[in-house]
Amino acid sequence: MLDMKWLRERKENQTEVQQAADQKGIKLSVKELMDLDERRRSMLQEVEALRQERNRFTQKISNLMRQGNREQAENIKQLVKEINERLGGQENTLRETDAAYIELLALVPNIVSPDTPVGASDQDNIEMKKVGLLPEFEFPLRDHVELGEMHKMIDIPRGVKTAGSRNYYLTGTGVMLHRAVQQLALDLLVKKGFTLFDVPLMVRTEALMNTAYFPLGRDQTFHITDEDKWLVGTSEVPLVSYYSGETVDVTEPLKLAAASLCFRSEIGSAGKDVRGLYRVHQFAKVEQVILCEASLELSEHLLQEITANAEELLQLLELPYRVMAVCTGDMSQKTYKQYDIETWMPSRGAYGETHSSSNLLDFQARRSNIRYRDKTGALRYCYTLNNTAVASPRILIPLLENHQQEDGSIAIPAALRPYLNGMERLTI
Ligand code: AMP
Repeated sequence: MLDMKWLRERKENQTEVQQAADQKGIKLSVKELMDLDERRRSMLQEVEALRQERNRFTQKISNLMRQGNREQAENIKQLVKEINERLGGQENTLRETDAAYIELLALVPNIVSPDTPVGASDQDNIEMKKVGLLPEFEFPLRDHVELGEMHKMIDIPRGVKTAGSRNYYLTGTGVMLHRAVQQLALDLLVKKGFTLFDVPLMVRTEALMNTAYFPLGRDQTFHITDEDKWLVGTSEVPLVSYYSGETVDVTEPLKLAAASLCFRSEIGSAGKDVRGLYRVHQFAKVEQVILCEASLELSEHLLQEITANAEELLQLLELPYRVMAVCTGDMSQKTYKQYDIETWMPSRGAYGETHSSSNLLDFQARRSNIRYRDKTGALRYCYTLNNTAVASPRILIPLLENHQQEDGSIAIPAALRPYLNGMERLTI
């Protein structure tokens, strides 16, 4: 959510938000929003004036009754009745206008940082840097599905049998690897001062609205109808919501991390990434979330920091990757600035997205009502940021494929070995 006062203040601000909506592909007319805003504010004033008039008359009636002047009191009662009728009508219209206003307000996007590339889709994202050498294979390459079957660690047919398309089983060393990368990521984040959380995965609608996953991401989210709750697509939702409605101390940035399951309907991606583990309905993710003071400079620094944390993990996994500046058309409603990290996936002959790092300024905190007291004692909304630390099983794709050997065995990067009983190589 943006500050409506800021939006009302200057026409230029409205133009900037309209441009952000257009660039992010959000159907919103800022003019319609401003018109509704004006209408509801003037209606509010009229309703308030009528309420005051009624209160004045009601007071008068009781004075007249006390003085025994019944006749005049009855006349004024008639006036009060008329005011109540008018007020009832106006309150109804105000309620309707309010509902339309709140619906539009929920679609307002965050503004976009000046250094964000303008573009329509991920094809327009800009490569910032490339790290690591691409492996050269002098033998026929196997993809992660084939390697997973050879090692009896990935079973997609049985996943589909049990749970439908985009589902899978991990077994044996597959589970060990899946857990090892998450634990490596958690340990790395603890060393960097993050506090670990185990979070609720079924959340209220409010938590998704507050974190700006709703209304636009509703169709990506699985609904538990009996409970009227939703399965989270990322632990960012319960992590940020932990502080909703609270005044927090962000003298030092609050750094939170969780390993959680994530559930996504992936509506709209039919026919896309259908082979293997790239795009599935259920996966595990270690997430970094930061809440900090409302400072552009500090939040930019923290964005670099959480991006570097993810890079460090990829370096520990000895995987080649590149960092992309995400363009306007590939950004979500809530995002001010975003980097994606893409890791080399040999079977695709391309880099594939494995991490997403975002600065949201106060957009999410405003919706979640998370504030802090600044140095002057004034209450201000925090800034929030988030990034993946690792998402598995997607990360197993580059891990298995980049480290495969001619005989089908997989070399285990040194940093993972302590989590795999010292294993240096997965043999068949
Ligand atoms: P996001 O929260 O959408 O920025 O995604 C963060 C990371 O989660 C992505 O970079 C992927 O590594 C992983 N991810 C997202 N969606 C899926 C999915 N449907 N299946 C597997 N991994 C996913």
